[in-house]
Amino acid sequence: MRKPMVAGNWKMHGSLSQVLVLLEAIKQGAQTLSSVDIVVLPSFVYLQQTENILSHSSVGWGAQNLYLGNSGAFTGEVSGAMLVDFGCRYVLIGHSERRHLFNEDLTLVAAKFKAAIEAKLQPILCLGETLEERKNGETENIISQQLESVIHAVEINAFRHAVIAYEPIWAIGAGSTATPEQAQKVHAFIRMRLTQYDPDIANTMRILYGGSVKADNAAGLFRMADIDGALVGGASLEAKSFLAICEAAC
Ligand code: PEP
Repeated sequence: MRKPMVAGNWKMHGSLSQVLVLLEAIKQGAQTLSSVDIVVLPSFVYLQQTENILSHSSVGWGAQNLYLGNSGAFTGEVSGAMLVDFGCRYVLIGHSERRHLFNEDLTLVAAKFKAAIEAKLQPILCLGETLEERKNGETENIISQQLESVIHAVEINAFRHAVIAYEPIWAIGAGSTATPEQAQKVHAFIRMRLTQYDPDIANTMRILYGGSVKADNAAGLFRMADIDGALVGGASLEAKSFLAICEAAC
Protein backbone atom coordinates (compact mmCIF):
# COMPACT_ATOMS: atom_id res chain seq x y z
CA MET A 1 0.00 0.00 0.00
CA ARG A 2 2.83 2.43 0.85
CA LYS A 3 5.54 2.52 -1.79
CA PRO A 4 8.87 2.16 0.00
CA MET A 5 11.47 4.91 -0.19
CA VAL A 6 15.21 4.73 0.28
CA ALA A 7 16.96 8.09 0.58
CA GLY A 8 20.72 8.63 0.70
CA ASN A 9 21.97 11.46 2.89
CA TRP A 10 25.44 12.25 1.56
CA LYS A 11 26.11 14.85 4.26
CA MET A 12 29.32 16.89 3.67
CA HIS A 13 30.92 14.05 1.72
CA GLY A 14 32.19 13.61 -1.80
CA SER A 15 34.15 15.52 -4.38
CA LEU A 16 32.93 16.54 -7.80
CA SER A 17 34.50 13.51 -9.47
CA GLN A 18 33.19 11.08 -6.83
CA VAL A 19 29.68 12.53 -7.01
CA LEU A 20 29.57 12.17 -10.80
CA VAL A 21 30.57 8.50 -10.60
CA LEU A 22 28.09 7.81 -7.79
CA LEU A 23 25.19 9.52 -9.57
CA GLU A 24 25.81 7.57 -12.79
CA ALA A 25 26.02 4.26 -10.95
CA ILE A 26 22.83 4.88 -8.96
CA LYS A 27 21.01 6.00 -12.08
CA GLN A 28 22.02 2.77 -13.86
CA GLY A 29 21.20 0.51 -10.93
CA ALA A 30 17.84 2.13 -10.34
CA GLN A 31 16.58 1.09 -13.76
CA THR A 32 15.52 -2.33 -12.49
CA LEU A 33 14.20 -1.12 -9.12
CA SER A 34 10.89 0.46 -9.99
CA SER A 35 9.00 -0.63 -6.86
CA VAL A 36 11.02 1.64 -4.55
CA ASP A 37 11.35 5.43 -4.64
CA ILE A 38 15.08 6.15 -4.65
CA VAL A 39 16.24 9.60 -3.55
CA VAL A 40 19.68 11.15 -3.15
CA LEU A 41 20.49 14.17 -1.00
CA PRO A 42 23.87 15.56 -2.04
CA SER A 43 25.58 18.71 -0.83
CA PHE A 44 24.04 21.93 -2.23
CA VAL A 45 27.06 22.51 -4.45
CA TYR A 46 26.45 19.33 -6.45
CA LEU A 47 22.75 19.89 -7.14
CA GLN A 48 23.39 21.18 -10.66
CA GLN A 49 25.30 18.01 -11.59
CA THR A 50 22.64 15.93 -9.84
CA GLU A 51 19.90 17.51 -11.92
CA ASN A 52 21.93 17.09 -15.12
CA ILE A 53 22.47 13.38 -14.53
CA LEU A 54 19.22 12.30 -12.89
CA SER A 55 16.71 14.24 -15.01
CA HIS A 56 14.66 11.71 -16.97
CA SER A 57 15.67 8.94 -14.58
CA SER A 58 13.53 7.37 -11.85
CA VAL A 59 15.82 8.68 -9.10
CA GLY A 60 14.65 11.75 -7.19
CA TRP A 61 16.88 14.24 -5.42
CA GLY A 62 16.80 16.90 -2.81
CA ALA A 63 18.82 18.88 -0.28
CA GLN A 64 19.86 18.36 3.33
CA ASN A 65 18.68 21.73 4.62
CA LEU A 66 17.04 25.03 3.66
CA TYR A 67 16.40 28.41 5.20
CA LEU A 68 13.20 30.37 5.60
CA GLY A 69 11.61 32.54 2.90
CA ASN A 70 12.38 32.88 -0.79
CA SER A 71 15.25 35.32 -0.58
CA GLY A 72 16.76 37.84 1.79
CA ALA A 73 19.85 39.03 3.62
CA PHE A 74 20.78 35.65 5.09
CA THR A 75 24.44 35.18 4.24
CA GLY A 76 25.35 31.59 3.54
CA GLU A 77 21.79 30.26 3.44
CA VAL A 78 19.78 28.60 0.65
CA SER A 79 16.02 28.93 0.16
CA GLY A 80 13.44 26.37 -0.88
CA ALA A 81 12.80 28.32 -4.08
CA MET A 82 16.49 27.99 -4.96
CA LEU A 83 16.32 24.24 -4.42
CA VAL A 84 13.30 24.01 -6.71
CA ASP A 85 15.37 25.83 -9.36
CA PHE A 86 17.66 22.78 -9.36
CA GLY A 87 14.85 20.26 -9.66
CA CYS A 88 14.80 19.23 -6.00
CA ARG A 89 11.66 17.48 -4.79
CA TYR A 90 12.77 16.70 -1.26
CA VAL A 91 14.53 18.35 1.64
CA LEU A 92 15.67 16.93 4.96
CA ILE A 93 14.24 18.83 7.91
CA GLY A 94 15.36 18.41 11.51
CA HIS A 95 18.20 15.97 10.97
CA SER A 96 19.80 15.33 14.37
CA GLU A 97 23.08 16.84 13.17
CA ARG A 98 21.20 20.07 12.40
CA ARG A 99 19.37 19.95 15.74
CA HIS A 100 22.48 19.22 17.80
CA LEU A 101 25.51 20.63 15.98
CA PHE A 102 23.74 23.70 14.59
CA ASN A 103 21.33 24.30 17.48
CA GLU A 104 18.13 24.02 15.46
CA ASP A 105 15.40 24.05 18.09
CA LEU A 106 11.82 22.81 17.79
CA THR A 107 10.58 26.22 16.62
CA LEU A 108 13.16 26.57 13.86
CA VAL A 109 12.65 23.00 12.67
CA ALA A 110 8.89 23.60 12.48
CA ALA A 111 9.45 26.86 10.56
CA LYS A 112 11.74 25.06 8.12
CA PHE A 113 9.13 22.34 7.59
CA LYS A 114 6.59 25.07 6.80
CA ALA A 115 9.05 26.77 4.44
CA ALA A 116 9.57 23.49 2.60
CA ILE A 117 5.84 22.99 2.12
CA GLU A 118 5.44 26.60 0.94
CA ALA A 119 8.21 26.03 -1.61
CA LYS A 120 6.36 22.87 -2.77
CA LEU A 121 9.15 20.61 -1.58
CA GLN A 122 8.47 17.36 0.26
CA PRO A 123 10.06 17.57 3.71
CA ILE A 124 11.65 14.43 5.10
CA LEU A 125 11.15 15.20 8.78
CA CYS A 126 13.70 13.49 11.04
CA LEU A 127 12.74 12.52 14.59
CA GLY A 128 14.86 10.73 17.14
CA GLU A 129 16.05 10.45 20.71
CA THR A 130 19.53 10.39 22.25
CA LEU A 131 20.83 7.32 24.06
CA GLU A 132 20.38 9.06 27.39
CA GLU A 133 16.77 9.90 26.59
CA ARG A 134 16.14 6.28 25.61
CA LYS A 135 17.74 5.01 28.81
CA ASN A 136 15.55 7.38 30.82
CA GLY A 137 12.42 6.02 29.12
CA GLU A 138 11.79 9.34 27.35
CA THR A 139 11.77 8.13 23.74
CA GLU A 140 8.01 8.54 23.18
CA ASN A 141 7.94 11.95 24.87
CA ILE A 142 10.78 13.26 22.74
CA ILE A 143 9.28 11.90 19.53
CA SER A 144 5.88 13.39 20.43
CA GLN A 145 7.44 16.81 21.12
CA GLN A 146 9.38 16.79 17.86
CA LEU A 147 6.34 15.70 15.87
CA GLU A 148 3.75 17.90 17.55
CA SER A 149 5.79 21.08 17.40
CA VAL A 150 5.66 20.70 13.61
CA ILE A 151 1.98 19.68 13.47
CA HIS A 152 1.08 22.77 15.51
CA ALA A 153 3.02 25.04 13.14
CA VAL A 154 1.34 23.73 9.98
CA GLU A 155 -2.01 22.16 9.21
CA ILE A 156 -1.94 18.38 9.64
CA ASN A 157 -2.86 18.35 5.95
CA ALA A 158 0.67 19.52 5.15
CA PHE A 159 1.81 16.05 6.20
CA ARG A 160 0.17 14.63 3.06
CA HIS A 161 3.25 15.96 1.26
CA ALA A 162 5.81 14.81 3.81
CA VAL A 163 7.88 11.78 4.72
CA ILE A 164 8.99 11.00 8.28
CA ALA A 165 12.30 9.42 9.21
CA TYR A 166 12.79 7.88 12.64
CA GLU A 167 16.49 8.18 13.38
CA PRO A 168 17.57 7.18 16.88
CA ILE A 169 20.63 9.38 17.40
CA TRP A 170 22.50 6.58 19.16
CA ALA A 171 22.35 4.48 15.98
CA ILE A 172 23.46 7.17 13.49
CA GLY A 173 26.96 6.51 12.19
CA ALA A 174 27.40 4.13 15.10
CA GLY A 175 27.77 0.91 13.13
CA SER A 176 25.09 -0.79 15.21
CA THR A 177 21.49 -0.27 14.22
CA ALA A 178 18.32 -0.43 16.30
CA THR A 179 16.86 -3.92 16.16
CA PRO A 180 13.89 -4.28 13.81
CA GLU A 181 11.66 -4.68 16.90
CA GLN A 182 13.01 -1.54 18.59
CA ALA A 183 12.51 0.48 15.41
CA GLN A 184 9.05 -0.99 14.72
CA LYS A 185 7.88 -0.02 18.19
CA VAL A 186 8.71 3.65 17.61
CA HIS A 187 7.38 3.63 14.03
CA ALA A 188 4.07 2.22 15.27
CA PHE A 189 4.00 4.92 17.95
CA ILE A 190 4.56 7.68 15.36
CA ARG A 191 1.77 6.27 13.20
CA MET A 192 -0.51 6.06 16.21
CA ARG A 193 0.15 9.74 17.04
CA LEU A 194 -0.63 10.73 13.44
CA THR A 195 -3.85 8.69 13.59
CA GLN A 196 -5.05 10.94 16.38
CA TYR A 197 -4.87 13.86 13.93
CA ASP A 198 -5.85 12.17 10.66
CA PRO A 199 -6.17 8.40 10.16
CA ASP A 200 -5.81 8.69 6.41
CA ILE A 201 -2.53 10.61 6.65
CA ALA A 202 -1.32 8.12 9.26
CA ASN A 203 -2.06 5.19 6.93
CA THR A 204 -0.37 6.65 3.91
CA MET A 205 2.62 8.26 5.67
CA ARG A 206 5.94 6.71 4.75
CA ILE A 207 8.02 6.34 7.88
CA LEU A 208 11.65 5.58 7.07
CA TYR A 209 14.15 4.17 9.53
CA GLY A 210 17.63 5.71 9.71
CA GLY A 211 20.67 4.75 11.75
CA SER A 212 23.44 2.50 10.40
CA VAL A 213 21.26 0.82 7.77
CA LYS A 214 23.48 -1.45 5.68
CA ALA A 215 22.97 -4.00 2.94
CA ASP A 216 23.02 -6.83 5.48
CA ASN A 217 20.51 -5.44 8.01
CA ALA A 218 18.06 -3.67 5.68
CA ALA A 219 15.84 -6.65 4.84
CA GLY A 220 15.14 -7.41 8.51
CA LEU A 221 14.09 -3.80 9.12
CA PHE A 222 11.94 -3.63 5.98
CA ARG A 223 9.99 -6.72 7.03
CA MET A 224 8.45 -4.75 9.90
CA ALA A 225 4.88 -3.54 9.35
CA ASP A 226 5.51 0.16 9.91
CA ILE A 227 8.97 0.53 8.38
CA ASP A 228 8.53 1.89 4.86
CA GLY A 229 12.13 2.28 3.80
CA ALA A 230 15.32 3.90 5.01
CA LEU A 231 17.27 7.10 5.32
CA VAL A 232 20.84 6.00 4.76
CA GLY A 233 24.02 7.89 5.60
CA GLY A 234 27.35 6.06 5.33
CA ALA A 235 26.13 3.17 3.16
CA SER A 236 24.67 5.60 0.59
CA LEU A 237 28.15 6.81 -0.40
CA GLU A 238 28.89 3.62 -2.25
CA ALA A 239 26.58 2.69 -5.13
CA LYS A 240 26.79 -1.07 -4.52
CA SER A 241 25.68 -0.91 -0.88
CA PHE A 242 23.07 1.79 -1.50
CA LEU A 243 21.52 -0.15 -4.38
CA ALA A 244 21.53 -3.35 -2.31
CA ILE A 245 19.50 -1.52 0.35
CA CYS A 246 17.13 -0.23 -2.36
CA GLU A 247 16.75 -3.79 -3.66
CA ALA A 248 15.93 -5.06 -0.16
CA ALA A 249 13.05 -2.58 -0.06
CA CYS A 250 11.48 -3.89 -3.30
C1 PEP B 1 21.90 9.74 8.83
O1 PEP B 1 22.75 10.51 9.25
O2 PEP B 1 20.82 10.17 8.38
C2 PEP B 1 22.19 8.31 8.89
C3 PEP B 1 21.19 7.49 8.91
O3 PEP B 1 23.52 7.94 8.93
P1 PEP B 1 24.13 6.43 8.99
O4 PEP B 1 23.34 5.58 8.01
O5 PEP B 1 25.55 6.59 8.60
O6 PEP B 1 23.94 5.97 10.39
